[in-house]
Amino acid sequence: MARLCLILFGSPGSGKGTQAKLLKESLGIAHISTGDMLRERVASGDEIGRSVASLMQAGELVPDETVNRLVEERIEQPDCANGFILDGYPRTVQQAKLLAELLVLRPIRTIVVHLVVDYNVIIERISGRRQCPACGSLFGIRSNAPRTPGVCDNDGMKLVVRDDDREEVVRERLRAYEQQTAPVLAFFKKSGVPSWNVTAAGIAPQVIAQEIEALVRKERGEAA
Ligand SMILES: [Zn+2]
Repeated sequence: MARLCLILFGSPGSGKGTQAKLLKESLGIAHISTGDMLRERVASGDEIGRSVASLMQAGELVPDETVNRLVEERIEQPDCANGFILDGYPRTVQQAKLLAELLVLRPIRTIVVHLVVDYNVIIERISGRRQCPACGSLFGIRSNAPRTPGVCDNDGMKLVVRDDDREEVVRERLRAYEQQTAPVLAFFKKSGVPSWNVTAAGIAPQVIAQEIEALVRKERGEAA
């Protein structure tokens, strides 16, 4: 059977990382997070790792060709024998084109899954988060709320909003995600890659993972 390439898209707060972990287990495939892959390469200290490290230190983007080459090597590792999840890649249409070129050379079945969430729900949840400035604990509004509103359970400190959690910051991150991702999704659709929108807000992560697993098995021609 062709190997599976599951390209997972999801905005900040969509639970993409959780889905990747669950699907890695249920589908028996590797989870390739490009961020982790680049960090591992830097840690290895080889030639590519050193050049990636100097780019990152200079605050520059790692070129598409380099990321692509690393992905190409990564998917030949033994843990990718059944397939792999790409998480955080491709981010641009150029990267998507390079990826499509390397996938077409291999017996690989590519499926795109976009975790769709109501941005208002994300904004409400993230901007409702509070952190303890003393011990760093995070609290929510509905789930994981502190016993006394606005006060840390551990040490009684007054909770604060992290800069990253401010509503305007969250809105900006979502807007940037949307702007970056929409053309990449359009590229895959236009290329005839099966692309699915999966509703991922207010639903238990396990239920979402089961839905995606069923879609994947159907696409691969397996009985659900
Ligand atoms: Zn505390």
